[in-house]
Amino acid sequence: MRLRYQFRFYPTDEQALELARVFGAVRYVYNWALQLRSDAYRDGKEIGYHESSAALTALKHREDHAWLNDISSVPLQQSLRHLHTAYSNFYDRKAKYPEFRKKHGDQVADYASTAFSWDAANRNLTIAKIGSLDIRWSRSFKSEPKTVTISKDRSGRYFVTLTLDEAINPFPKSGINAGLDLGINRLATLSTGERIANPKRTSKFVIKLARAQRALARKQKGSVRHENARLRVAKIQAKIGDTKLDYLHKTTTDLVRRFDVICIEDLNVNGMVKNHNLANAMGGAGFCVLSRMLEYKCEWYGKELVRVNHRFPAGKTCSTCGHIGKSLPLNLSEWTCSECGTRHDRDKNVAINILAVGLTDNKNARGGKHQTRESSTLKGSTRRSVNQLSKHGA
Ligand SMILES: [Zn+2]
Repeated sequence: MRLRYQFRFYPTDEQALELARVFGAVRYVYNWALQLRSDAYRDGKEIGYHESSAALTALKHREDHAWLNDISSVPLQQSLRHLHTAYSNFYDRKAKYPEFRKKHGDQVADYASTAFSWDAANRNLTIAKIGSLDIRWSRSFKSEPKTVTISKDRSGRYFVTLTLDEAINPFPKSGINAGLDLGINRLATLSTGERIANPKRTSKFVIKLARAQRALARKQKGSVRHENARLRVAKIQAKIGDTKLDYLHKTTTDLVRRFDVICIEDLNVNGMVKNHNLANAMGGAGFCVLSRMLEYKCEWYGKELVRVNHRFPAGKTCSTCGHIGKSLPLNLSEWTCSECGTRHDRDKNVAINILAVGLTDNKNARGGKHQTRESSTLKGSTRRSVNQLSKHGA
């Protein structure tokens, strides 16, 4: 199984300087190629990976861009590949149009196997033009790293992410399946009636963040004090993000352990963005992170995730008799079916409907091989990207 493990590392001063140059060059090339492709896109033309790669070679020959030659060519090339993937996701309607990368955003540089060496006996990772890294190995692994990603987050922390081929023991089958209704007030309601709360924001962090943000607003832009205040805000936000991610990891692993087939609504990115209420409540990409985690963990542990088309009227369909009633007002948490008289918990009813449709879809897909193939090509390349998306690997 292809996995991604992330570790923290501490660069020397020289390495930090060199990495700043690498991140800058990677960002520069990414934005330059994005401009190139955007101009073409506006003219109704398309520039692919190979054309942008040829253009980069030409750019490096220009005198005013000679500095690019001091940087290992591998992360620059990888940056063009990432842009290409971003375009593919955009064309597949899985993501928004690619955006320019900012200086203060997360910084990333990718190294293919030609640009690093791994000494398994001494657990030593050496990167081209950077040298050996001081890594805190927080977990063990047996295989050779296939790719290495070096990143620096907004709060100034450095990480190295390794792609590995590791064997994973599947979870035993439980014989129980579940439907999930993702919500605003809570993370999800299960078809069993169980409710999963949203990750808690501890008030300690909320107060700290508010204070740091007020301090940042008082500082003059571009000053050293402003930069320090920005870092403090970013560090608190990183803590909050880590806590949230931890919670999502625990929750999703628990779900995958307990259920054999998990059915969720297929929320596409564009739909999510349009639905401001949902996007805001989840603090941005929460839903996407949750469904991505479920997707790759199901694959790791031998379980199944079924995405159910979200356009079917799960909310107003009675899960007992199948009667489709009138639309319900948003604030209604319980309702009674006019046909069979069943009293429903709104969210649990949705979850049961999602489970029923998901299991039927799944059965049909397995029954007819043609259907499987057809629907998997229609739905695009979600499977392909499963393992590219995990961040912490657990
Ligand atoms: Zn009914």
